[in-house]
Amino acid sequence: MTVVVVGAGLAGLRAAEAVRGHGLAVTVLGDERHLPYNRPPLSKAALRESATAADLAFRIRRDDLGWRLGQPVVGLDLYRREVLLADDTVPFDALIIATGIRPRVLPVPGPPPMVLRTVEDAEALRRALTPGRRLLIIGAGFIGCEVAATARAMGCAVTVCAADAEPMIRPLGEHLGAGLRRRHEQAGVEFHLGVGVSGYEPSGVTLSDGRTLTADVILSAVGSVPNTQWCAGNGLDLVDGVLTDNRLCAVRTTAAGEEGAEAPVLAVGDIARFPNPLFDEVPRRIEHWSMPTDTGRRAGAVIAALLAGQSPALDFRPLPSFWSDQYDATLQSFGMPALGVPTLASGSWDGDCIVEYHRDDVLVGVVGVNRTRELATYRPRIGSVSDASQPAAD
Ligand SMILES: Cc1cc2nc3c(=O)[nH]c(=O)nc-3n(C[C@H](O)[C@H](O)[C@H](O)COP(=O)(O)OP(=O)(O)OC[C@H]3O[C@@H](n4cnc5c(N)ncnc54)[C@H](O)[C@@H]3O)c2cc1C
Repeated sequence: MTVVVVGAGLAGLRAAEAVRGHGLAVTVLGDERHLPYNRPPLSKAALRESATAADLAFRIRRDDLGWRLGQPVVGLDLYRREVLLADDTVPFDALIIATGIRPRVLPVPGPPPMVLRTVEDAEALRRALTPGRRLLIIGAGFIGCEVAATARAMGCAVTVCAADAEPMIRPLGEHLGAGLRRRHEQAGVEFHLGVGVSGYEPSGVTLSDGRTLTADVILSAVGSVPNTQWCAGNGLDLVDGVLTDNRLCAVRTTAAGEEGAEAPVLAVGDIARFPNPLFDEVPRRIEHWSMPTDTGRRAGAVIAALLAGQSPALDFRPLPSFWSDQYDATLQSFGMPALGVPTLASGSWDGDCIVEYHRDDVLVGVVGVNRTRELATYRPRIGSVSDASQPAAD
């Protein structure tokens, strides 16, 4: 039995290790030339100081994984149980899709700006960010905010423009987003919020309200697109990533019993859209560093069970978590804050704090700013009815 993993990032690596741990042969196919490496430093330390993929490489816990790197997978034939390279085909008994996401590109005219996803992107950006240069960042999400903080530390002038009303408003909410904006403003970052970009110029951008912003370097950080193009035409739901059930098995429209229809196909990491009963039954993609490890391990166990003719339980309830470093602030989160309404639990919106996010009476997420130790106590409480709403004991 051979398991093929497409995508040599963290999720592909952890899935391959798990599959091999169950005694199955596994080959990982990746389009980057490097063994899997850590992306979070690319907007932080590895942007300030040059780092190679080897410097950022993950420790590989097994030396018996097969690797084919530097070649994109261009197609999938589920009927024949093969993935297609430009000049070869690779057969499989089970497939794991781990091809992650790529930066979204705004459909506006003009020379395309820089993006940040790979170690090569980070090196190109680092070289461009010499002290005194003016950086314009389009997008005020995680990557836009982190690069803004890093670029200020590198001595660049930084402007951020974004359609959102506040930085990181989707995961954090308005008040904490505004607090974060004030931190950036105190560090000298200029914001233009609630405005889109209608054109790229060689030395800046035109905004949707007609204004122009000038810059020496432009970075686009406006979200992501899942890398699913290579698996189109096989009856998978690819509307937003790869739709799976709670086992992480891809949902298929192929008729049961059709040849090829029964080969296990799973998705892991940023690309997997799965229901998590810790919150509800709605399938969602989660682009955080904790998911590749959780989903990779789960995929190994599920494939081993399916190939042995067993039915894995529908009990996968991973706790999403993220962190983000900006200036002297470390933001950390457990759960899915974006699902809830924020309440300040301690501290202040502008300073170090803990913010709880509730949906109805259920604690669905928590974010802490420089509150690592306190935040850990929240882990077991995510997904539970909060204490405040419990009836008082007699
Ligand atoms: C700059 C940056 C900073 C980040 N900072 C944080 C942070 O502070 N905290 C946090 O929680 N998360 C952070 N993240 C997110 C985190 O890195 C991701 O959640 C994680 O990398 C997802 O792993 P993955 O294996 O699913 O996808 P990826 O790491 O994207 O790996 C997918 C791999 O598949 C390859 N691939 C794509 N298409 C094909 C194809 N057709 N054939 C073969 N290979 C293919 C890709 O090139 C890539 O190598 C950050 C991400 C970036 C880019």
